[in-house]
Amino acid sequence: MMLGKSSLIIASNRLPVKLSGSGSKRRVESGAGGLVTALVPVLRNRGGKWVGWPGVVEEDGISDLDPLLSGLSKDLGYDIRPVHLTEQERRDFYFGFSNEIVWPMFHDLQTLCHFAPEYWTAYGRVNRKFAEVIGRYASSGDYVWVHDYHLMGVRTNLKEFGVSTAAGFFLHTPFPPLDIFLKIPWRLGLLRMLLDFDLIGFQTERDRRNFLQCLQTLVAETTVEGAGHVVDVHAGERRVRVGAFPISIDFAEFDSHAATPAVIRRAEEIRDCTPGRTLILGVDRLDYTKGIPYRLDAFRSALKHYPELRERISLIQIVVPSRTEVPRYQELKTEIEQLVGRINGEFSQTGWIPVHYIFRSLNRGELLAHYRAADIALVTPLKDGMNLIAKEYCAAQIEENGTLILSEFAGAASQLQEGALLVNPYHIEEVADAIQRAFHLPAGEKGARMRNLRATIREQDIFWWVDSFLKAAFHRSLNDFPVLEEYLPRLELQEEGEA
Ligand code: UDP
Repeated sequence: MMLGKSSLIIASNRLPVKLSGSGSKRRVESGAGGLVTALVPVLRNRGGKWVGWPGVVEEDGISDLDPLLSGLSKDLGYDIRPVHLTEQERRDFYFGFSNEIVWPMFHDLQTLCHFAPEYWTAYGRVNRKFAEVIGRYASSGDYVWVHDYHLMGVRTNLKEFGVSTAAGFFLHTPFPPLDIFLKIPWRLGLLRMLLDFDLIGFQTERDRRNFLQCLQTLVAETTVEGAGHVVDVHAGERRVRVGAFPISIDFAEFDSHAATPAVIRRAEEIRDCTPGRTLILGVDRLDYTKGIPYRLDAFRSALKHYPELRERISLIQIVVPSRTEVPRYQELKTEIEQLVGRINGEFSQTGWIPVHYIFRSLNRGELLAHYRAADIALVTPLKDGMNLIAKEYCAAQIEENGTLILSEFAGAASQLQEGALLVNPYHIEEVADAIQRAFHLPAGEKGARMRNLRATIREQDIFWWVDSFLKAAFHRSLNDFPVLEEYLPRLELQEEGEA
């Protein structure tokens, strides 16, 4: 086993638990999701721990939480250790630094940032709290694996506490290009924090290139050794491994669940609501990075410019509520609802509604039924770390006949560029053309594309991802890591006189 005798400590902003009820009626249960599924076997095997915030602030009463979480830990076979936050920490660290600075900035949307100095202080304080809890349980042979943009400062704090446990970091979001990163007032502090890890993992080659460019520009004497998907970086006094590890899904689980009678029945019901029509599906969390208004404009443009599509296609747009207490997210919701209303007002006919809009979260079975019912998935984020919807849609196409239209700015584009129809989500007419192309795509081409997509996702699933990261953490030779592909559009200039 890669980890030898050491145990694994996972740290993430949220614990993989679901809380319900309150007071004496409070219940906790294990959360679902691909990451949890993939890590649990390793955690159980090694007597591992998961450190994170349970989701309730101290002011709301948390005295019952520790015993509840200890009880759950016994059932799960690994330890769940809470980091408790106050209301102000939630505001300044979570809503503030994490979601009003790092989230928009790392998605290239610097105009949405709010650079309040108190956010940076809270970020340092909460990262220290996480390190305190981890430090309490870590022994020298363990491996600490820290997840995502909320916790970039954990290793720095662990070192300050004298905890020398090896530690890796994985960024689930994109990493921005140099010119954008430079605008962060605490840019050097963030780089210094990241360089305290032994291994830093990004989703794609593009994110890693951006990070290395920031290092090479901002840290004197930075050198990079190796050419595969993991390289060794010397930055000043620091030495760190940097890799690209595209996260994925539990393909086998989606594939087999999609074939169950309940999902098949429900998919048929959904199709029966729009008989004979081509169904297009969009599924996104309510977030400005997902590009939903541009997508609706593109759908409208397709109906406008390709009249043959009218009454022949319908879009089901599912929006999962998220951060709805934040005004910007409420504004986005209003904008989406107005656009849906505008398209339906303009194009609806008796018996045909162009856009079906659902604003709620679906359970796995419902989601799979929608994936199965859809002929085309329209996944057009303006920028996305990976985008798992794209992979889940393909995993559910067990008859290999759906089409994926995918933004070239989703991390998934680098792995799925052969099978998907790639689009620039800002280019409304290009996306409209892709909708029309997908509508007319010959069955043979559709099947070949989907087979290609499914083969890639089947092979590079979430278990492969965990394994690749941990291999990079423990393997020594750089030659073990093959080169990863990056998606970039190419301009092919032809000689004058040629077609
Ligand atoms: N999802 C869900 N219910 C829904 C819609 C989505 O559970 O109604 C899940 C979906 O299965 C996927 C995740 O939400 O695993 C979305 O992940 P993605 O990487 O696409 O975007 P994120 O929300 O993490 O930015």
